[in-house]
Amino acid sequence: MGPLASQMFTYQRIRRAAGMLFHRAVFSQHLMTTDRPDRPLLLRIDINDLCNQLCTGCFYPKYASKGHRGHSMSLHDFEKIAAETFHLAYYVQLPFGFEPLMHPRFDRIVRIAARYNVPNTGVVTNGSLLLGKRAEAILETQAVTGLAISIDSTDPIRFRQLRGRDHVRLVMRNAETFIRARTDSRVRYPCVVANTIIMRSNMKELPKTLESIISLGVDEVQMFHIEPMDTSNPESAVHCPAEWNEAHERLGEVIRRNSKTRVYLPPPYEADDISKDGRSLQRHTQLSRRSSHETYETDAVPPGEPDSYPEGVFCVCPWMVAIINCWGDLMPCSHRNEPLGNVLNDGFEKAFNSNRHLRLRNNLVRGKLKGACALCTSKTPSSDPLRRRIVRAIDWQPAEA
Ligand code: SF4
Ligand code: SF4
Repeated sequence: MGPLASQMFTYQRIRRAAGMLFHRAVFSQHLMTTDRPDRPLLLRIDINDLCNQLCTGCFYPKYASKGHRGHSMSLHDFEKIAAETFHLAYYVQLPFGFEPLMHPRFDRIVRIAARYNVPNTGVVTNGSLLLGKRAEAILETQAVTGLAISIDSTDPIRFRQLRGRDHVRLVMRNAETFIRARTDSRVRYPCVVANTIIMRSNMKELPKTLESIISLGVDEVQMFHIEPMDTSNPESAVHCPAEWNEAHERLGEVIRRNSKTRVYLPPPYEADDISKDGRSLQRHTQLSRRSSHETYETDAVPPGEPDSYPEGVFCVCPWMVAIINCWGDLMPCSHRNEPLGNVLNDGFEKAFNSNRHLRLRNNLVRGKLKGACALCTSKTPSSDPLRRRIVRAIDWQPAEA
């Protein structure tokens, strides 16, 4: 390198360092320290990038078709992440987007998680691998407080059509066996929830599906409209509001007959819900996403509850959500794909306070919505951790046998 090139190189390095120092000084008010006792984080971790189903509407079939070899986070990496983050989490969810039970050492993952006593740990699964060592680890450790099993149909043909695999009997059998084992072991956790997506293609048989799911002994059924639920999605109920309202009525009859099981059902459409401007659809969307728990009067945030939710901010995700993929990349929500840091390379505190993260927090506090934030209409739980935080703080009892 000649003297001029060397000078340029030094100048650029100094400039970059000065820029970073300037950023940190300006954004220092947005730094999040990790020695705090208030557990501000909703932590969603992908321990792998694999699934054994190919569901309609999921990103996974396309992802899998690109020939990914599949990666499972090592136990060492999971331990590192757990040690640095779990004391900060009020809720840890496995996974964010893939099938966690595909991890070859899922049982060990659960046993590692159990050491940290996170108040709420949720596992979302398609249920096809909920057996053997995996199920035993969940029941023995009592670390998983909530287990959500996705069941959109109990009809074998429809299930295959929606999920790309003939897994329905397997899933139903695993779920039933698991719930029975929980009862026999006289343990409290996990609360077993069935997640059912409402689509045009399964709408007619939803009452029958709900009856079958309830008969498994689940504690709760949560029914959600497919996303996106606007007219861009051919599977959305907005294309057939009358059909949804009729299904809603029939589902109501099933719920009344099975009053011991908590069931959340989005409301029927009202006349002005579907308008051209989409505003009233938005209202309906918000109503549709209200958790069933809100019917148990848990909507309010207790006054004085300590949290890191800045006053009046548009979105709390960059303060209260950490999504970590199986390579350690850190994202603040499901709508921003570009990582803001890497927790395995940099450590969590550094990644959670990267310049990109601080800039995003600064923009949101100042109401400057840029990039994905400018287009974001999300009302999902990941954009509203406080609601989830309160929701999960409530006590619950297993459904009576
Ligand atoms: S089971 Fe879940 S992750 Fe797998 S394809 Fe279906 S929706 Fe996607
Ligand atoms: S994209 Fe949406 S959810 Fe994500 S940080 Fe921005 S406003 Fe929040």
